[in-house]
Amino acid sequence: MKNYHQFDVVVVGAGGAGLMAALYASKTASTAVLSKLYPTRSHTGTAQGGVGAALGNEGEDHAEWHTFDTVKGSDYLGDQDAIEFMCSEAVSSVYELEHMGLPFSRTPDGRIAQRPFGGHTNNVTGKPVPRACYAADRTGHMILQTLYQQCIKKNVNFFDEFQVLDVLIVNGAAAGVVALEMATGELHVFHAKAVIFATGGHGRIWEITSNAYTFTGDGLAITLRRGIPAEDMEFFQFHPTGIYRLGILITEGVRGEGGVLINDKGERFMEHYAPHVKDLASRDVVSRAMYLEMQEGRGIGGKRYLYLDMRPETVNQYAAADGRRRTDGSPYIVTGEELLGKLPDIVDFARTYLGVDPVAQPMPVQPTAHYAMGGIPTNKFGQVVIDENNTVLPGLYAAGEVACVSVHGANRLGTNSLVDLIVFGKHAGLDAAAYALGASYQVLPDDPTDFTRAQLEAIRQSSGSESAFEIAREMKSVMFDHVGVFRTAEGMQDALAKVRELRQRLQHVRPADSGKIFNTELLNTWELGNLLELAEVTTVSALARQESRGGHAREDFPKRDDANWLKHSLAWVRDGQIVLGYKPVVITKFQPKERVY
Ligand SMILES: Cc1cc2nc3c(=O)[nH]c(=O)nc-3n(C[C@H](O)[C@H](O)[C@H](O)COP(=O)(O)OP(=O)(O)OC[C@H]3O[C@@H](n4cnc5c(N)ncnc54)[C@H](O)[C@@H]3O)c2cc1C
Repeated sequence: MKNYHQFDVVVVGAGGAGLMAALYASKTASTAVLSKLYPTRSHTGTAQGGVGAALGNEGEDHAEWHTFDTVKGSDYLGDQDAIEFMCSEAVSSVYELEHMGLPFSRTPDGRIAQRPFGGHTNNVTGKPVPRACYAADRTGHMILQTLYQQCIKKNVNFFDEFQVLDVLIVNGAAAGVVALEMATGELHVFHAKAVIFATGGHGRIWEITSNAYTFTGDGLAITLRRGIPAEDMEFFQFHPTGIYRLGILITEGVRGEGGVLINDKGERFMEHYAPHVKDLASRDVVSRAMYLEMQEGRGIGGKRYLYLDMRPETVNQYAAADGRRRTDGSPYIVTGEELLGKLPDIVDFARTYLGVDPVAQPMPVQPTAHYAMGGIPTNKFGQVVIDENNTVLPGLYAAGEVACVSVHGANRLGTNSLVDLIVFGKHAGLDAAAYALGASYQVLPDDPTDFTRAQLEAIRQSSGSESAFEIAREMKSVMFDHVGVFRTAEGMQDALAKVRELRQRLQHVRPADSGKIFNTELLNTWELGNLLELAEVTTVSALARQESRGGHAREDFPKRDDANWLKHSLAWVRDGQIVLGYKPVVITKFQPKERVY
């Protein structure tokens, strides 16, 4: 067969999760990585602030504290067995990255430097604890480069600019994937014993977003079409500090280093919403507080933005008021030079995109769509589970942002995604390779590419004059307004009707490019179909959940309702209809309590 390949393990995606999985799988199994991007262009490379692990280098810390903070941050929806596993593995995983050569920033005595981040606390005092290990504000970039080098060293097989369009499932087990080679437009079949999806998130559904253009939810849409459910899709995180109008991220590390949010009256308003940890409350809490401030007319100049202030005089004033001290006990006083050293990219972004020098002027910011807590349901070994009883689909794995383990529950803490990638990427890789050792290749159907070709032909053959750009614009706008930080039944009904209309209209988009070589117009149209499908699943899941929890805040149901809603949602697409189901949350040590920050 032409364009046929065979590997024990095929990894889809070359971000932090995919590379970690490939590195571990390749120790004992023949392994290929397929990526629609050149690997080091994956979104992991944009992660700024840090990777969370309780090393205790800059103050007392314990994996148990990290576990509790993550459970609390998740608004008690995270599965506690998986969270405990992740937080204890985090420590050895970070040292492992260090030993691979990752150039972490250092404390004066040479250990890995750590900074505070939202929701990470000393469980005894309730004060912020420095837990984020960082390489200036380029932590994700360094992780990606380090892992890519290791994969090259271990001779992992890379297929760059191969976009996966379908997963093959035979006899109820994973059998491979179908991918389009972008340079030629040809379809390839990758026959595999195990397939690991590590395709990242889907934040391009929303108008203001920190996510790369490539975050179009491909892996999740592909598995939904093959009968696998999507878990907890109503929970999407809005990060408090996106650059006004552009959404480009200003890391929470700015607040970790002492930056504060300020309203039009010059007040540090987080004091009113989270008196203990203030600007370092979890992201859902801060984003909601910002919306309320703006709603009450305290946006800057009455507009839809607030200031993020990291000028040394402001940082030092509030650090003194908070009684913040350095590890050696001296008062926390920063200089512009120190901030430049720790946050060089942020300074650069502010100058480039805002024309603002953040050491001399405050930065205009607004909440920006940032992270998918929901995704392909898995257990803590990365195995995909397909129903309310957590039945495993043999040979199919997911890791990273596309997966829902669930360790982030209803709201992810900052720095916990990078940990998730390295811990669950590693275990998915190990488990997939072990599975492949004992499994045999499934016999493929006569034409494994038929479903993919049907999808592409439908786009190529469509008639009509609808514009994909306009459809995307309308989706982003309605989702940002009605399925954003605050939600109501009425608004979400409107959004759902609009998204369904747009899905119809998408069938009348005809790409002008009919060629084969790098036909990005064809692929972008296919990706827009994925985004619309996930927008619909998100809205249906959100409408059903009649409570407020973490990243899902309903004005018509403002309270968390553990009696009825302490459960994960599952959404299947069956005969074109979305069907919902639910499964219990795993609770081990921590009974749900009200969250106080
Ligand atoms: C601006 C920004 C800053 C962040 N900062 C932090 C931080 O400081 N700390 C933290 O913990 N988290 C942070 N996050 C979140 C975190 O970076 C992401 O959740 C994480 O990097 C996702 O990694 P991943 O491996 O799942 O996916 P990615 O790194 O996005 O990789 C996805 C891969 O899948 C491939 N792919 C996708 N679709 C297909 C397809 N159809 N076929 C083939 N290949 C495909 C892509 O080519 C890519 O290689 C940040 C996120 C953003 C956007």
